Amino acid sequence: MIDNHQRTVNYLRLAVTDRCNLRCFYCMPEEGINFVERRELLTYEEMLHLIRLMAELGIKKVRITGGEPFVRKNLLGFIRRLVRIPGIESVPMTTNGTLTRRHLDELVGLGIRSFNLSIDSLDRQRFHHITRRDYLPEVLACLHDMIDRGLDVKLNAVVMKDKNIADILPMVELTRERDIAVRFIEEMPFNGSGPHSTQLEWNYLKILDHISNAHPQIENLVAAPFSTSRNYRIAGFRGSFGIIPAYSRSFCGTCNRLRMTPQGLIKTCLYDRGVFNLRDLLRAQASDADLKIAIQEAVGSRSKDGFEAEAKSRQRGKTFESMASIGG
Ligand code: SAM
Ligand code: SF4
Repeated sequence: MIDNHQRTVNYLRLAVTDRCNLRCFYCMPEEGINFVERRELLTYEEMLHLIRLMAELGIKKVRITGGEPFVRKNLLGFIRRLVRIPGIESVPMTTNGTLTRRHLDELVGLGIRSFNLSIDSLDRQRFHHITRRDYLPEVLACLHDMIDRGLDVKLNAVVMKDKNIADILPMVELTRERDIAVRFIEEMPFNGSGPHSTQLEWNYLKILDHISNAHPQIENLVAAPFSTSRNYRIAGFRGSFGIIPAYSRSFCGTCNRLRMTPQGLIKTCLYDRGVFNLRDLLRAQASDADLKIAIQEAVGSRSKDGFEAEAKSRQRGKTFESMASIGG
């Protein structure tokens, strides 16, 4: 699929649930969000049906995200069927790593070798403070297991003023001996309860500056096509680090992705409020041909960038989304 700005769209980010066993404060409030009612959630059967159609339209990669994907029951049963859909070439996952480790054998057996693991701090107290849960040991055990298995691991850390600035350099240090990528993400306004600051102080320039002060010998790496991160390596280090300007939005020109929320809302931009609900069409007995036309129409009318999408969605009123229902 080619969108109205000549960008190829071949990547779906699928949030399989909005529920989570952590409460990262930048993602959702302590008490959780208004979780979607069970009947509102796409069933696995419905997801597989829609993904088969999307694969016929050119989607080649499906990232499983959430909420925390592993809190949804029988996720592995779903993945077993997903990886067999003709045309789906890769199924990477984004996870908080608290429940993931026990499934690694089977995931690897299904060909899943690429994981984004979210760790915002290497310090147990700070991790607890940020996620409101004391699970750092489980997450680190999962990380080490993934590294030992030689999997493709990217660590995701949202950079937050007064919360985890002290973790930036220790996380970069992880890449000295290990062939992993650490990616620092600008904080976005999707915490489920409205903005807690109007200005982003720790933007990608400040993060890069902070790292360069400690490590002047930073090499620029050529970004993979469609990458959202600017990638670097410190001379002599095995791994790399990247910065994702998620708030500054300088990557929209090559955006190749669609998002589907747990209730079947299609988002053609992280910053839109959802452009139409595919589940409603499906449950209204729309034909496969009509479903495909609806997907193509959404792709054919995408916002140019995250600023345009945000401006349009602001006109439709203010609701405070949680990243747990968007999938990151
Ligand atoms: N639960 C899984 C996890 O945490 O990896 C998958 C879902 S989570 C919503 C996906 C990614 O979004 C995580 O890396 C998380 O750090 C990031 N994220 C959540 N809220 C964010 C925010 N307000 N700003 C920037 N990144 C955010
Ligand atoms: Fe859960 Fe991931 Fe959101 Fe944290 S970022 S609350 S782990 S969905």
